[in-house]
Amino acid sequence: MADESRFFSRLRQGLKKTREGLLGRLETFIVGAPLEVAQLDEVEEALLAADLGPRCTAEVMEAARAVVVRREVTTIEELRAHLARHIGRLFTPPPPARPAAVPPRVALFVGTNGSGKTTTIAKLAKRHRDADEGVLLAAGDTFRAAAIEQLQLWGRRIGVDVVAHRAGADPAAVVFDACRAAAARGTAHLLIDTAGRLHTKANLMEELKKIHRVIGREVPGAPHDTFLVLDATTGLNALVQARQFHQAVSISGLIVTKLDGTAKGGAILAIAQDLGIPVRYVGVGESPEDLQPFDPQAFGAALFS
Ligand code: GDP
Repeated sequence: MADESRFFSRLRQGLKKTREGLLGRLETFIVGAPLEVAQLDEVEEALLAADLGPRCTAEVMEAARAVVVRREVTTIEELRAHLARHIGRLFTPPPPARPAAVPPRVALFVGTNGSGKTTTIAKLAKRHRDADEGVLLAAGDTFRAAAIEQLQLWGRRIGVDVVAHRAGADPAAVVFDACRAAAARGTAHLLIDTAGRLHTKANLMEELKKIHRVIGREVPGAPHDTFLVLDATTGLNALVQARQFHQAVSISGLIVTKLDGTAKGGAILAIAQDLGIPVRYVGVGESPEDLQPFDPQAFGAALFS
């Protein structure tokens, strides 16, 4: 099977719960029978149940009603194709990939504990390594000894160096060392893990701002990416925390993990639209290939076909 179709079938498999939730509600529609505008209430309920949120749902439904009223869409099959395309277009397109002028290209990963930061960093590090690009990891979650050990374990497993200090050390110092090391070695990519929980939320946000400042001072133009890692199973509840992280460190891209474990996959669009930032990767399972660069059109198609 070509890479692209293998990729798509993994995405589709990962989105199974959300898709079944959406399409399950449309089962009452008779295939081939003409669509009635009144039936669109079912579609609206399905979108809300998939956690698309009131604003996105209203936007999607307005367009859907318009094409049904104008008879541009007359059957359930055509409606599914329309929804797939329309939802794909609502995402901010990801920016074109560009290497850093001078290495390293620095990516900072933020998000609450358990959202999937460490696993995602490991998966991306493996991807860089497989592409023969140098990569260094920084264990910036010094709040938990287990977080440092977990990153070191991943580093050994995939053959990538990890800059780490002891638990309780200043994470800004770890990040400083990692930036210096990556610059001295000319490493292409530096991926920085951070804490997901501190004594208070204010402490956490201050710590992240400090890390952000250190990176900017040490590497010109960095961080090139600041990724917020979100657990899709929390659905729309992740919106408030996403706004807080965005306010603290200006998120450049979302990484949404565990889409395979939820029927609320629609929240990804609601959150991306609210923050006005692109989704860069999605996690649809636990193996390294299950972290995919996000393709808005493929996402729409995987939800509705
Ligand atoms: P961190 O605390 O943010 O660093 O989170 P971890 O990287 O430790 O991940 C928490 C759990 O989520 C681990 O058990 C991961 O295997 C799991 N996980 C991460 N991404 C995915 C995904 O896309 N799908 C599934 N099913 N599990 C995931």
